[in-house]
Amino acid sequence: MDVLDGNALAGRLADLLGWDATDSLVRCRACGSLGAVAATAVYATAMGLVARCRACDAVLLTLVDAADGRSWVGMPGISALEVRRA
Ligand SMILES: [Zn+2]
Repeated sequence: MDVLDGNALAGRLADLLGWDATDSLVRCRACGSLGAVAATAVYATAMGLVARCRACDAVLLTLVDAADGRSWVGMPGISALEVRRA
């Protein structure tokens, strides 16, 4: 499976969150490393996108588009996400 970088999430996260999160920092719940969303390792699967920590390979974020038009965003491995106020 090809590994993409976090920029592969850019359009989808902007659509869902309303802002470009690729420059935002995330802290890995498993190993504590801090890095930009754009620097995560992203895997495109039939189910959707999975972003993993490059330091420890923990699943940071999942994004699944359901057939009924809903999208499901999971952040099982993110202990903190940087949100910049306008
Ligand atoms: Zn990690």
